[in-house]
Amino acid sequence: QEDVFKKLVAHCKEYGFVFQSSEIYDGLGAVYDYGQNGVELKNNIKKYWWDSMVLLHENVVGIDSAIFMHPTIWKASGHVDAFNDPLIDNKDSKKRYRADVLIEEQLAKYEDKIEKEVEKAKKRFGESFDEKQFKETNGRVLEYQAKWDELQGRFVKALNDSNLEELKQIIIDQEIVCPISGTRNWTDVRQFNLMFSTEMGSTADGALKIYLRPETAQGIFVNYLNVQKTGRMKIPFGIAQIGKAFRNEIVARQFIFRMREFEQMELQFFVRPGSELEWFQKWKQTRMAWHQALGFGQENYRFHEHDKLAHYANAAVDVEYRFPFGFKEVEGIHSRTDFDLSQHQQYSGKKITYFDPELNESYVPFVVETSIGVDRMFLQIMAASYAEEEMTSEDGKKDIRVVLRIPAPLAPVKLAVLPLMKKDGLAEKAREIIDDLKFDFNCQYDEKDSIGKRYRRQDAIGTPFCVTVDHVTLEDGTVTIRYRDTMLQDRVKISDLKSIISGEVSM
Ligand code: ATP
Repeated sequence: QEDVFKKLVAHCKEYGFVFQSSEIYDGLGAVYDYGQNGVELKNNIKKYWWDSMVLLHENVVGIDSAIFMHPTIWKASGHVDAFNDPLIDNKDSKKRYRADVLIEEQLAKYEDKIEKEVEKAKKRFGESFDEKQFKETNGRVLEYQAKWDELQGRFVKALNDSNLEELKQIIIDQEIVCPISGTRNWTDVRQFNLMFSTEMGSTADGALKIYLRPETAQGIFVNYLNVQKTGRMKIPFGIAQIGKAFRNEIVARQFIFRMREFEQMELQFFVRPGSELEWFQKWKQTRMAWHQALGFGQENYRFHEHDKLAHYANAAVDVEYRFPFGFKEVEGIHSRTDFDLSQHQQYSGKKITYFDPELNESYVPFVVETSIGVDRMFLQIMAASYAEEEMTSEDGKKDIRVVLRIPAPLAPVKLAVLPLMKKDGLAEKAREIIDDLKFDFNCQYDEKDSIGKRYRRQDAIGTPFCVTVDHVTLEDGTVTIRYRDTMLQDRVKISDLKSIISGEVSM
């Protein structure tokens, strides 16, 4: 599975999806650039989210707030004092790790061990295998489960108590080694704030220290009353935003899974106090349905309920996807109570209550948030789409076809138009077809190499349709259309192309 991930990273680079930032200067840690195909996929993901949240919900509108905000906002939100990661250094390798992540990886090891026992038993017992009973009775599984339970209990308590010494003690007791040096020579654990700061203006009395936002949510909170009033919004209503966020993350090993500059798609949904848990459940279901609508298999998604709630939340759940490196968070759904708005009311000294005409009273609304990373969603789609298939090529040789089965509405290029050869007016005809369709779909023209090679290049970037122009095209106005997933080919009229493709690619 780790191998698959390495291949995926290489594929992202080779086919113009994702490049290391500042590559010719040997890169910048955990910062990435999107290439010609990556930017199209990313834009399509954002549109898929925006349309489903803003266009399809009458009571949700969007905003685009600035990255720079008044520094007191981050004091009010708790980020200045509490947006920290617990860090630990290995004295031999001089490498720095997140203590909580080291412990989570240890927990995952026990889970893996249990999974392996289950897989072994499944093979042994076949059809008659009862997984639940096996887990409740098998000695080894019970031993691993007990270790997991004990570790999890200690870990959650240490986090809740912000007990840094205990985090270090867990790492020592679990005999966790540094992946680089292989030693257990650890420093103490200390808190590290994740916000980037910079300076604004330069006056005689000094510049203002400001932060690059670590989440887009606060831009929504401080604008909520502007939007509510100018949009005449009635509770319950939501405000959606897509934008960059910045975190000085320490763990920088998982490609675009954890970046220092990334993009978020967030919805803050404002509700009556007391109704927030009901809305939390609704959004939980709505968001899971959104993920599963992509067709990557329901068994690859799960909810992860939080054991430790952030100080502002009264319910929280993650949507997790089965990445090649295990189930990991793609999206968080949080019931944030009235914490943020109340804090801003207090710190700004401005009243930001909502007058509810039905109840005839004013209150600070409660908030349910859905928050998803664009880049993490991008990685999820790439991981789910990447496939290597054995096939027999035209000359009878066994071969591997690499294909990205990206859902057609999200595919970077929708249609490639390929003249069988350049001469006899085939190239001109192909260009004519593109000129006709390029306002509707992202099209690509390709005349280089054999048709087989050209198909494979399109498979590798996930193009759902290839259209080939040949001599028959000039006689009767038909082309062959080849479908990425089945590799089947049909002969169709040029005039039908638009409706065939629209049917598949519209969101
Ligand atoms: P994690 O536990 O993975 O650090 P988080 O719980 O801090 O994530 P949130 O603050 O809830 O994450 O952010 C919401 C979403 O933003 C996450 O589900 C993820 O998709 C995305 N996200 C957060 N941090 C990063 C990052 N460093 N790089 C890429 N995406 C991120």
